[in-house]
Amino acid sequence: MSERAANQVQPETVAAAHGVASDTAFGAVAPPLYLSSTYEFAGFDTPRAYDYGRVGNPTRDLLGDAIARLEGGAGAVLTPSGMAAIDLLLNRLPVGSAVLAPHDCYGGTLRLLKERAGLGQLTLQLVDQSDNPAFRAALEDRPALVLIESPSNPLMRVVDIAALSALAKEAGARVAVDNTFLSPALQKPLLLGADYVLHSTTKFLNGHSDVIAGAVIAAEAEEARNLKRWANATGAIAAPFDSWLTLRGLRTLFARMAAQERNAMAVAQRLRSHSAVARVHYPGLADHPDHALAARQQKGFGAMMSFELDGGVPAVRRFVGHVRHFTLAESLGGVESLVAHPATMTHVDMGAEARAKAGIGDGLLRLSVGLEHIDDLLAGLEAGLAAC
Ligand SMILES: *Cc1c(COP(=O)(O)O)cnc(C)c1O
Repeated sequence: MSERAANQVQPETVAAAHGVASDTAFGAVAPPLYLSSTYEFAGFDTPRAYDYGRVGNPTRDLLGDAIARLEGGAGAVLTPSGMAAIDLLLNRLPVGSAVLAPHDCYGGTLRLLKERAGLGQLTLQLVDQSDNPAFRAALEDRPALVLIESPSNPLMRVVDIAALSALAKEAGARVAVDNTFLSPALQKPLLLGADYVLHSTTKFLNGHSDVIAGAVIAAEAEEARNLKRWANATGAIAAPFDSWLTLRGLRTLFARMAAQERNAMAVAQRLRSHSAVARVHYPGLADHPDHALAARQQKGFGAMMSFELDGGVPAVRRFVGHVRHFTLAESLGGVESLVAHPATMTHVDMGAEARAKAGIGDGLLRLSVGLEHIDDLLAGLEAGLAAC
């Protein structure tokens, strides 16, 4: 088959089969794991395709190529964590650049941006990106980089990536979208006008809660090369074994996303009809404020949601003490269901005032819905809710 024809397959095929049966040494069907840190030169002054593992690694490159193809990008750089992926982009900004980020962005991202701003390396503007006049006003500062997260964490607010990207680019900014919550199975920000996609591959891309890693995908080939060069220069590279595990997880991405979304929709509907629940934040529900935008912009609504218990912290305590099948833990995107309490876990560093401003109440719980049987998940939730 020609290279061209091989590249024109559907994304499900890329995820399931990129690099399968490509081993020239033994014909291994599953791509081998190359742990070697260094590679023998073919002869004097004659390096092969790989010379040193920080510069490049066949296992890591296979995963990078697969993720870049899934996102529709020119290339991807795999980093040791999602945070390292975001930092790789920040590292490339001239000192003193302005960065515009969502006021309710991922807690680790907020911490990194504030620390770098505190050192004088960048100036930071945090705005509610669904507030169009506020976003336009912030662009008057001429940011070098606009960070977008959609849907947001934990309230699942959705912003119009194409519209914001167009405005940002008009103002001379580059646009990076954190696509961790949906994965390329459900959203492709580069096709909506973004310059970069960021991932915590720790979450849905790996999908099995056994790797910490990240990725930056660039729309343009030159930027992809620049990022790769920079990752080598700073040493921010993902380990071969983590890359191999993530490629293995990626094989089932589309099947997992579809099944987890089905479960999530059933969970959201059950939560909404329960008397102990004040509100459910899931864009798949027709009365979610961003439902129409999510339906237009995304290929699905994903497996993340949050909901508010009527009884505040005492109710939260009783819920997490009695719920079954939802493990109380941070992180998301694995095959197992998790529940987190943003005010004391993922968003504790944000501070009470900023949480209140962003609408993250003390009675709010976030769910990552997994692959368990829906009857068990609903019964497990009922056990928690009955105790509230
Ligand atoms: C988890 C997460 C990150 C950080 O990724 P790590 O792999 O934990 O470093 C960044 N953005 C979002 C949206 C996340 O959920």
